[in-house]
Amino acid sequence: MGILQVNSVNKSFRGLRALNDVNLEVDEGRVHAIIGPNGAGKSTLLNCFVGRLVPDTGSVIFDGYSLVGLAPHQINQTGVVRVFQTPEIFGDLSLLENMMIPALTRRDGAFALRGWQRADAQSSVIASAEHMLEDVGLADKRHVIAGTLSRGDKRRLELAMCLVQEPRLLLLDEPTAGMSRADTNNTIELLKRIAGRGLTMVIIEHDMHVVFSLADRISVLAQGTVIAEGEPAQIKGDPRVREAYLGGAQL
Ligand code: ADP
Ligand code: MG
Repeated sequence: MGILQVNSVNKSFRGLRALNDVNLEVDEGRVHAIIGPNGAGKSTLLNCFVGRLVPDTGSVIFDGYSLVGLAPHQINQTGVVRVFQTPEIFGDLSLLENMMIPALTRRDGAFALRGWQRADAQSSVIASAEHMLEDVGLADKRHVIAGTLSRGDKRRLELAMCLVQEPRLLLLDEPTAGMSRADTNNTIELLKRIAGRGLTMVIIEHDMHVVFSLADRISVLAQGTVIAEGEPAQIKGDPRVREAYLGGAQL
């Protein structure tokens, strides 16, 4: 049984059926990509996972927790962490200071902040923040003000801010959107490395190079409906998928 189970999710906006009976199962430790043309419902689906939107009907179960109806911070506490499409960082703070915020509030914010009074807790939180910066290749910039970073580095910082929360499910909405080819390739390598440690990921992505480099499994959404689901090789050859993409992204 998958660690994330999405059962018959429906979501409409004023009569527009954005999600139509969506079913999805993500196995623990795998990378599951959701692809589909613009307006297919991908972001709507992700928003239903993190509590930004509530499905009209259907269920979202993560590791036994029913997520529908939980507030975003409660969902975060179950270990579901989302990487935003545009970096949500604090431009006036250093990289290390940026890292301290999610590091201190992970899982149980109040407890973590109380624990911060203890000197040993401070050094271990700083150590994990520094370790994560090193992991994404930003260790030598830890005292730089985040607002001055390049776009690619900002996205790496944001990824580190997500990873320091020790997620059990990482959700990524177009992690390479707007990146140069070189930055995209760096991001692919970084995400591959993280996936290699067994972190479960759901990734929404337009760039087929990224999808086929990372995904263990792919669901294809078109007009709110899952029109195909399978291993990357199956999806590549699926005529319905080619049809949905005609005139759009290349497979
Ligand atoms: P994708 O991420 O696949 O491009 P979205 O999930 O953003 O697609 O959108 C799916 C459909 O739902 C689109 O037709 C979009 O216009 C519509 N939609 C998304 N969010 C809202 C909203 N908050 N209010 C009204 N319509 C929305
Ligand atoms: Mg979207």
